[in-house]
Amino acid sequence: MIRIGQGYDVHRLVEDRDLWICGVKVPHTHGLLGHSDADVAIHALCDALLGALALGDIGKHFPDSDPQYKGIDSKVLLAHVMRLVEENGYRLGNCDITICAEAPKFRSYIDTMRHTLADTMGVSVDTVSVKATTTEKLGFTGRKEGISAMAVCLLTNN
Ligand code: MG
Repeated sequence: MIRIGQGYDVHRLVEDRDLWICGVKVPHTHGLLGHSDADVAIHALCDALLGALALGDIGKHFPDSDPQYKGIDSKVLLAHVMRLVEENGYRLGNCDITICAEAPKFRSYIDTMRHTLADTMGVSVDTVSVKATTTEKLGFTGRKEGISAMAVCLLTNN
């Protein structure tokens, strides 16, 4: 059996917040606003993994009304989601993330992001893809009002 999942998330860019993307702190003038560390890419990945097994979404498992998740490192959430995947008898085939942001440039961080995600999930780095794109100054990402991320994953039970 193989199962496919997809996830999508958006967070608003604000001053006076650190920018965490794929578990890596990226130097920037702005950071993402959220109840957790607002790591938009990990949130999209978590939703893809949960979606593949029809286990609901990140808001169901980690409600933002729950104070225990305030400011939490999203890698903790991702590790928890991977445990659920394993408990359900599946393992990661591969995952692929796209970050949509006008700034900053993520190119020099991509490999660190891939290794960070792979380490957090306990998988081989060659199963983890991270890409970044601008939206050509169009829309909310183009106006630097926020960053969005999409993720897909394939899970296999053999
Ligand atoms: Mg989120």
